[in-house]
Amino acid sequence: MTNYGANPCSTAIIITYSRQTVFTEWYQRTMTTKESSKSKKAKAKKTTESGEETLTFQAEVSRLLDIVANALYSEKEIFIRELVSNAADACDRLRYAAITEPKLVDGDGSYAITLRTDKGARTLTISDNGIGMSRDELIENLGTIARSGSKAFVDQLSGDSKGDISLIGQFGVGFYSSFMVADKVDVVSLRAGETQAWQWTSDGKGAFTVTETSRDGRGTTITLQLKEDEADYADPIRVRHVIKTYSDHIAFPITVSDTEDEGEPETVNTASALWTRPRNEITEEQYTEFFHHVSHMAGDPWSTLHFRAEGMIEYTGLLYIPSSRPFDLYNQERASKVRLYVKRVFITEDCEELVPRWLRFLRGVIDSEDLPLNISREMLQNNAVLSKIRTGLTGRIIRKLESKAEKDSEAYAAFWENFGGVLKEGLYEPSGDRDALLGLSRFRTTQGDDLVSLADYVGRMKEGQTAIYYITGSDMEALIRSPQLEGFRSRGIEVLLLTDPVDEFWVPMIGAFEEKSFKSATQGGADFDDIKADEAKDKDAKADDEENATSAKEDIDRLVAKMKLALGESVKDVRISNRLTESAVCLVADEGDIDMNLERILKAHQQIDTRAPRILEINSDHAVIKLLATQAKDGDGTTDDAAHLLLDQARILEGEPLPEPAEFARRMSTMMAKGFNI
Ligand code: ADP
Ligand code: MG
Repeated sequence: MTNYGANPCSTAIIITYSRQTVFTEWYQRTMTTKESSKSKKAKAKKTTESGEETLTFQAEVSRLLDIVANALYSEKEIFIRELVSNAADACDRLRYAAITEPKLVDGDGSYAITLRTDKGARTLTISDNGIGMSRDELIENLGTIARSGSKAFVDQLSGDSKGDISLIGQFGVGFYSSFMVADKVDVVSLRAGETQAWQWTSDGKGAFTVTETSRDGRGTTITLQLKEDEADYADPIRVRHVIKTYSDHIAFPITVSDTEDEGEPETVNTASALWTRPRNEITEEQYTEFFHHVSHMAGDPWSTLHFRAEGMIEYTGLLYIPSSRPFDLYNQERASKVRLYVKRVFITEDCEELVPRWLRFLRGVIDSEDLPLNISREMLQNNAVLSKIRTGLTGRIIRKLESKAEKDSEAYAAFWENFGGVLKEGLYEPSGDRDALLGLSRFRTTQGDDLVSLADYVGRMKEGQTAIYYITGSDMEALIRSPQLEGFRSRGIEVLLLTDPVDEFWVPMIGAFEEKSFKSATQGGADFDDIKADEAKDKDAKADDEENATSAKEDIDRLVAKMKLALGESVKDVRISNRLTESAVCLVADEGDIDMNLERILKAHQQIDTRAPRILEINSDHAVIKLLATQAKDGDGTTDDAAHLLLDQARILEGEPLPEPAEFARRMSTMMAKGFNI
């Protein structure tokens, strides 16, 4: 903790340091945190002599299953998409693992996903020859939830807006969607490279069993015993249709057949990586469906970029900017989810180096021709090829955003509402893209509801205005009502209203735009003298003849002096304000002192333990101040109490707690008693 107030020389350094710490910490506090592994374990209940073991689901899984099994959703068919997507992931993972460990595939490097229906038995079976699961993996993966997905998903479902079941995959709990249609699920799995297969069975009601079994070759087979009214999914025509709708782009062949069918089943999907196909052969629907697959999100993407980079390094990108926020946008890793492929082989979904954090809302695929197939995690760090890809794709996204912003400002505003707060992190982080990002930034201001660019702002600055004025805070409504804005408003000077926490960090870092420096409206003296502004609206309150004016000035000066004396150390100074027109008082930070909102953030994060004393500005045209000024002349003792009450009022307007509430109450009562002549 730092008492920078006592040592003003080091203030700047400390603020810079604290800001960085807080910036990181802010993320750690916001939103999702990883659940501790302790609470994740499924509990063993009993083991029978045949080796069958019964375990209970983690409590959260049970709750999720309850909701999934009983809720009435029209999009139940998405369970097929989820199970097929898991099967494809399993094939992807084995293909990658086999590059360094070829014996895992034992000469059979072909992959397939096979669905089989049985109307008589009312079952649907989904098989893959992917990586499979060991006994422990079955228990860990299908009995617990690694991410904080369950809770977030349940919240999403039970919120006011009647959540969307089809988003289940986004929360990392897609497997459990099978219990929407099945009253019993069997999973038989043989982990590639192992000899013992295992069977996992559950009715989704609190417990599951794990037992030894055998399986012909590696991979996983999931058998759904369908509920009575879900017999539809034992019909191959229906299942084929669902695959066509949701899973056409899966890069492994998918077949659907019925137990009664004879002969080789046909492949249902196109089974080639979508991004490798020419753009003109891909339909809008296929792009959208692939977006759903890679993002686990619903609806249309806000923008789709499909490109091939050729030259020094070669790669293909199919990237999407979503039209809504992913639920974990502000989680503490701030990681991107763009999938990295090397020559069509899936490598990883969390590659920090691929996409800057401030573009982490991107979803999609990058497929490199230059990286080695057996690239390891360590090799991904500080990799020259990856950093070129990152620079290249960042440039493309920026150009895309620029053209959207220019051509369709309404659509751009929708993007900005979702991701502006993330994009602005790029203004703070070291990068060569700051200028471009400043150009892309949009702001709410005191003039109207439209989003405004900095160029717009500068273009309509008042004659003589040299600074870009801004005010920061967490609540837009409170900001708009800030007393410090009164003088700006009455003179028609526009002020940026900044409410994203990141604003507090980038503004001082950037300092200026087109040589106009950023200046906080709550800091320093508001020097309006050079600005040719609209006539201030408070003229009527001005003194009418000179003699009166002189004596009023003397009164006010005397009041200021008395207030200073009364308030002592609680304020840095008392001044006559030129930024107030309606309120009697407000607090401002002295030039060079820490901004008041930043101070609040730092204090909330225990980075500082004291507050810098502020300047109390008083409105000499306000009725109360005028009255006090005359009273001060007559030597009335109430000035002390009034001074404290006014300071407390200014604190309340700032949303700050009062240091001495009891004193406040006492003074208030005394004043009221006087006012009521009690
Ligand atoms: P997610 O796919 O987002 O991780 P799911 O609930 O769909 O969440 O699946 C949970 C986990 O179960 C997967 O991460 C994977 O480890 C494992 N799993 C599911 N299906 C399969 C499968 N067919 N083969 C291998 N592992 C699987
Ligand atoms: Mg899944």
